[in-house]
Amino acid sequence: MTVEEALQILKERGYKYTGKREEMIRICAQEKRYLSAKEIMEQMQAEYPNLSFDTVYRNLSTFVELGILEETELDGEGKFRLACSANGHHHHVICTVCGKSSSLPGCPMTELPDLPDDFHVTGHKFEVYGTCKDCYEAAHS
Ligand SMILES: [Zn+2]
Ligand SMILES: [Zn+2]
Ligand SMILES: [Zn+2]
Repeated sequence: MTVEEALQILKERGYKYTGKREEMIRICAQEKRYLSAKEIMEQMQAEYPNLSFDTVYRNLSTFVELGILEETELDGEGKFRLACSANGHHHHVICTVCGKSSSLPGCPMTELPDLPDDFHVTGHKFEVYGTCKDCYEAAHS
């Protein structure tokens, strides 16, 4: 996903263009890692000093619904990143130190033995946590 693609999705879905929305998407595009709403808000404060946490969070949630951002929860906090270019359903490895992530090929659901017959599956979550090369080296030098 690029900033341009994200803005195009907003336009197609009838969302009004605002500089704030573009800035939020740009921040996520710059950093290929999971950011908290607070981190995103802090980066915007120079330009938008009156921006409320609520506004940021509401917009981020909308972006997730539209498939512009992907969301996860790390340390009990919602974190956001620009959707990967990986098409369709996929999973991530995530660095728990810096939030850097990349997509994984395949889905472990396809490897699962039979699920209970009477259970109707509507979704699943799978994430691999660890330390990226940079964070690992920083911690072990
Ligand atoms: Zn992804
Ligand atoms: Zn890292
Ligand atoms: Zn899956």
